[in-house]
Amino acid sequence: MTVYVTGHKNPDTDSVTAAIAYAELLKANGQDAIASMQGAMNPETETVLKRFDMAAPEIMTDAAGKTVALVDHSDLNQAPDNINADNVVAIVDHHKIGDVTTNNPIFCCVKPVGCTGTVLKQLYDTEGVAVDPKVAGLMLSAILSDTVNFKSPTCTEEDKKAVAELKEIASVTDTDELFMDMLKAKSSVDGVPAKDLLNRDYKDFDMNGNKVGCGQLELATLDQVAAIRDDLYKAMEEQKAAGGHHTILLMLTDVVKEGTELVVLSDDPSLVEGAFDGKLEGNSMWVDGMMSRKKQTVPNMQKAFGC
Ligand code: MN
Ligand code: MN
Repeated sequence: MTVYVTGHKNPDTDSVTAAIAYAELLKANGQDAIASMQGAMNPETETVLKRFDMAAPEIMTDAAGKTVALVDHSDLNQAPDNINADNVVAIVDHHKIGDVTTNNPIFCCVKPVGCTGTVLKQLYDTEGVAVDPKVAGLMLSAILSDTVNFKSPTCTEEDKKAVAELKEIASVTDTDELFMDMLKAKSSVDGVPAKDLLNRDYKDFDMNGNKVGCGQLELATLDQVAAIRDDLYKAMEEQKAAGGHHTILLMLTDVVKEGTELVVLSDDPSLVEGAFDGKLEGNSMWVDGMMSRKKQTVPNMQKAFGC
């Protein structure tokens, strides 16, 4: 019997690396196992696998007739198509318990920690299996990703302990550098047209009869867009001319410095300056602590428009 280990649909780094790490643990215990994933990897996960020189799991989207172990989820709607819950033999996860119901007892290890990688490190330890250095690098990356380098409210002391142990095994000295590398891959703008970047995460709003557009790019560093600032502004001008906007804003959010370089194209720039209590230098201004369009940028603009 071969067990297909799989993470959730739309796989993230934890889902992909946990499938690999759990398949390796099963194999170390004499169980035939195959790591799988339900779709292509995102750029962050690709970077991680390349960095630790590991092959991608095979793609498995249809579980008909297959024996399956679920990692990083236990919801049937996130599991592969045609899954038979009776063919699920194990769950290793860190989310709320989903709706998988079985007729027989199965192995289930779910803990309220920040990442499946942390649960898996503890399983390796419990079962006395040494973690392969490359696999340790993957698990380490997953924990940094899921906990946003320990900043997420979901991060626990157990996650920090697992990172401390895994970085030794993987010979990673600087986990901040590793996190930054993943963040850069995730937020990569290389080769993407300025118009597409402006619209990557963009919304229009009506503010007292004025059309206001706001796009946001999350970046590891503002250097990522230094060479294309003029192109981005031109894309904003074209969008404004075509859409008849009062204002178009582009938030260049520096996730590490926790603030936003706000690029402003407006019929009334002083209104935008007032909204954020700032002063434009050229066509932009730095707004410290601005991270959220929904919670910060839009409410301040609405207030300025008297909404
Ligand atoms: Mn996940
Ligand atoms: Mn996860």
